[in-house]
Amino acid sequence: MIYLLQNSREYDYDVRAIALTFFERTKIKEISERQWSETMMEILPDSSDLFLHITYSDKHIDGEVRSGDGKSTKSSVDCDYLDHEHHRNDVSRFLYRLFSKFTGRILPWGMLTGIRPTKIMMNWMEEEKDPDTLEKRFVDTYLTDIQKASLCRRVAEREREILADYPYEKEYSLYVGIPFCPTTCLYCSFTSFPVSRFRDRMGAYLEALYKEMAYVADAYREKPLTSIYVGGGTPTALDERSLHSLMDKIHQLFPVESVREFTVEAGRPDSITEEKFRILREAGVGRVSINPQTMHQETLDLIGRNHTVEQTREAFALARRTGFDVINMDIITGLPGEDINHIRSTLREIFDMKPDNLTVHSLAIKRAANLNIEMEKYHSLVKGTTNEMLRLVDQVCMDMGMEPYYMYRQKNIPGNFENIGYSVPGKEGLYNILIMEEKQDIIACGAGASTKYVFPAENRIERTENVKNIDHYIQRIEEMIQRKAFGDKIWQ
Ligand code: SF4
Repeated sequence: MIYLLQNSREYDYDVRAIALTFFERTKIKEISERQWSETMMEILPDSSDLFLHITYSDKHIDGEVRSGDGKSTKSSVDCDYLDHEHHRNDVSRFLYRLFSKFTGRILPWGMLTGIRPTKIMMNWMEEEKDPDTLEKRFVDTYLTDIQKASLCRRVAEREREILADYPYEKEYSLYVGIPFCPTTCLYCSFTSFPVSRFRDRMGAYLEALYKEMAYVADAYREKPLTSIYVGGGTPTALDERSLHSLMDKIHQLFPVESVREFTVEAGRPDSITEEKFRILREAGVGRVSINPQTMHQETLDLIGRNHTVEQTREAFALARRTGFDVINMDIITGLPGEDINHIRSTLREIFDMKPDNLTVHSLAIKRAANLNIEMEKYHSLVKGTTNEMLRLVDQVCMDMGMEPYYMYRQKNIPGNFENIGYSVPGKEGLYNILIMEEKQDIIACGAGASTKYVFPAENRIERTENVKNIDHYIQRIEEMIQRKAFGDKIWQ
């Protein structure tokens, strides 16, 4: 627990966000001055609780972090903190330095807590082209390490090249969610239901989904469609007949022939058959994702993936034989029981397979994940991602001829790390860039799907969420459609 005493809430969000990057999964409780001394008295000397005291006075801020055992760090800064526009970064740097001094830790992303660091770099690139100047500005502003600044600059450059000279903001992309998986992974925080328990509802789910898709196709008939992304869950968890029906429906409703990219996630190797890949290829799917997460059987068993390493190899070989243009693979760093040696050997196998894209996730322990619920049991096994692991990934990707092309950060990643997509040149996943850089509307259908409307002129984003529960989604499909009708801006 962090007990927080502050005489103003001017920077409440920043105080909490930066505190949590140092003290992950810690609760913050705001207390009054009177409670402050009472609480201090009650805390035993060996308590792991912390006290954080921030005092704002005339153009000046004082801060103190104190632990239950009496260790204390103080710091202060002169700045006109009421002038948010010009001094927000000064305040954040002050907070970061206070916690850094107290913990003795330096975080790779410094004080940056936002999930889209490349957006900042993209904006700066409008005025500045020199890579060294851009990286130095990034390090000085956000106190990041130079590798992160360089990574961010490389990704932003790649995105700018890919997005240049095409009016994506005048088009939209479609997301279709299939929330079924063979089993539920330990770390899962997506909308996902195991096939064995939900098989009897798949037909009704698809019927509801088709209604929602039909609404979108009609509402957006005048607008060009850039890309289609079928995700989940695991779309290939559908049986062959259902997968065929889904592909047929997409073709009936949307101009598949003219889209720039058509992706289907085939994430779980235990959901793939030759027939399913044939159905996808014949439907014009160009990009599939096969996700090993790790090439270590004992980890797969531990995290409940219920497939073998050999099935990953077979699924990849089958995808190549089927002739997909782009094969992506996902891996996760920081899985329970894994250290850098596990990552090294996983990467060695992936190097031999030579996917076109590699997406690297740092394990995030979110509220909904089973891993969080069962954290007590797995706590000693979760060592988390290290910078060394991500540097190794970067090196191996470069050896495979890949460059980083999209990136985002999530809250609750131990160590405050990032997720990165790498690609060989020319095979980048366009949908991933569009959704991260918020360049166009992403209209999402299915349980738990989140639609994003982008208003570039106003620098504004609106979202419409569908319910996650499958039964509710089926029963309330008209309401889901109404939510979209309310949000649609096509007629504006
Ligand atoms: S495959 Fe993905 S969506 Fe399915 S249970 Fe595992 S983590 Fe969740």
